[in-house]
Amino acid sequence: MKPIDGDYLKNKAEAKPNIKCLIQMKDITKVFHTGGMDFVALNNISIDFYAGEFVSVVGKSGSGKSTLANMITGIDHPTQGSVTIAGIPIHNLKESPMSIWRGKNLGIVFQFYQLLPTLSLLENVMLPMDFCNTYPQSDREPRARDLLDMVGLADFASKIPAAVSGGQQQTAAIARAMANDPPILIADEPTGNLDSKTAEAVFELFSNLVAKGKTVVMVTHDPGLAAKTDRVVHLHDGRLAQN
Ligand code: ADP
Ligand code: MG
Repeated sequence: MKPIDGDYLKNKAEAKPNIKCLIQMKDITKVFHTGGMDFVALNNISIDFYAGEFVSVVGKSGSGKSTLANMITGIDHPTQGSVTIAGIPIHNLKESPMSIWRGKNLGIVFQFYQLLPTLSLLENVMLPMDFCNTYPQSDREPRARDLLDMVGLADFASKIPAAVSGGQQQTAAIARAMANDPPILIADEPTGNLDSKTAEAVFELFSNLVAKGKTVVMVTHDPGLAAKTDRVVHLHDGRLAQN
């Protein structure tokens, strides 16, 4: 496995002088208040993610992986510190501008897919385009079909999620995440509910997107998959750990 930051990134930055810091997390602390107690889920984390990287985030259950991912997506806010993405300080955005910004700039993939159960796969993939008005109305369906084709689901476009397998639901969720052609994908345990062969196929989809220039941050429990990414970030009790 490659080291967290330091030399590897320096080398990568030297190899590609125009490499851009896309996501900058600075001094992030997240404290949850539950039952009168404070729990520090993230403890003073500073880390940069670079344009075009495929980074995995690993750590034991409860180490803060999802909390870290939620800081990047703006699903949750830091108690202290800043998250700047492509120059936008997203920790300062209110909910409504945040959801518009998120819809255009981030694709999010969850462990349990989170497709809308009553909509077809095609309609699920069209939804982010409708929400953000990113493409003219008449372009949305053909674009959604192209995306489903990209993930091998062209023949399943009219099915509802319950009528396809878990792996197919997750690949549809990846197609949906790409609907607005965001530069960044954040995935929280995207293969956590899949058998190893399907997990490999989902991983390949992410790799293909990285090859096309996307930046992917993937939380995972799977050391085999993590080892195949550009960089592995280890979390331990809410802190960055050296491996
Ligand atoms: P991971 O994804 O690595 O399993 P999480 O980021 O979900 O870990 O959680 C990190 C720690 O923060 C855990 O101890 C969890 O119980 C706690 N935690 C997460 N979300 C909340 C919340 N909304 N309220 C209170 N504690 C939380
Ligand atoms: Mg988690």
